[in-house]
Amino acid sequence: MHSRRAFSALLAGLLAKLRAESDDEIREIRTYRHAQGLFVRVQSAGGAFGWGEAESGLPELMETFIHAGLKKNALGQSIWDAERVWDRMFFDQHDLGPGGALTGAIAGIDLALWDLRGRVLQQPVHRLIGGKYRDRIRVYGSFGVGFGRRMTPSQAASKARKFVERGYRAVKLRMQIRESRQNPDPDPTFEYVKAVREAIGPETELLVDINNGYTAERAIAVGLRLRDEFRVRYYEDPVSDQNLEDYAAVTRALQGIATIAGEKQYTRWQLRDLIVRGNVDYINPDVIKTGGLTEMKKIAAIAQAYQKPIICHNTRPTVSTAASLHFMASIPNAGPFLEAPDEDEFHALLSVVSRQFRFEQGYLTVPVTPGLGIEFDESKLRAASRVI
Ligand SMILES: [Mg+2]
Repeated sequence: MHSRRAFSALLAGLLAKLRAESDDEIREIRTYRHAQGLFVRVQSAGGAFGWGEAESGLPELMETFIHAGLKKNALGQSIWDAERVWDRMFFDQHDLGPGGALTGAIAGIDLALWDLRGRVLQQPVHRLIGGKYRDRIRVYGSFGVGFGRRMTPSQAASKARKFVERGYRAVKLRMQIRESRQNPDPDPTFEYVKAVREAIGPETELLVDINNGYTAERAIAVGLRLRDEFRVRYYEDPVSDQNLEDYAAVTRALQGIATIAGEKQYTRWQLRDLIVRGNVDYINPDVIKTGGLTEMKKIAAIAQAYQKPIICHNTRPTVSTAASLHFMASIPNAGPFLEAPDEDEFHALLSVVSRQFRFEQGYLTVPVTPGLGIEFDESKLRAASRVI
């Protein structure tokens, strides 16, 4: 009699354990293709869920990548096995990478899993990835001029002034010259920088992004003028990211104006190569391009070993921004800024989401609610998206 009761209790315990373990299986992965972002919802067998964001440069391709590729690496795995799930996705699909679409798609699932874990444990994600060094992150307002075709210098000045009026203390002007228009002649850069500097006043920090448009020699000459005539202290992607030694030549030649690169490096190995060969002053990997927080933490460790602070690249105002805040809160080598997109361009998306971070006097607060701190109104998002 006694032993039968003990046996029943043991059996019940085992069944409960099995049930709990199977509750933790990754059961469902859905994508929501909204006009302003590609979002990934991951759900466990027990019904817990989380939201991630994938790189959405070509969203149809990314949907296919996730559903035809990564899903089979992630479904059935444990929601707790961050490293193992990441490795399965990355190394099984390596021939279709190693960066770009592969890591951008992985980011969608990786971020959703971090959000899910935070919700299950009722903890903000930074507590799960190392804890918190800081409660808020300074942001810079970022905008592109489309190499003078989308925006005139006076329009750029108005745009920059709008950021300052809203409380931003730093602005980035993206020239978007790119390799295909290398060393343009005439070069519109100074005309834009002059207009923007006059609009934002001498105290606002001004970052200038060339978007890979110069040769090293030209980049050095322009960088000296930006520093001396316009008080520019941050100089992003002055040269092509296809020749990392050019970054080193520019960085070595310029003092008092820091080089930034890394938005087109997508893995720990690519960032290592950028640091070792290019030796830029700051690196700016992007949490939705590099494969999510799991990979970003590794990149941060490599960067710390080389004394490189990280200024996260970030062009999306919801999941990407929230994940970047948790990441920058959690690392010792956070740089002086996080990039913030122009929210006026995201009204449609921002109407279907609530965000647990606030803009205050040039800073964004780090979310302290469970998960990443992003809550989509699922029915509204669904109505505005293609859902697979
Ligand atoms: Mg850039």
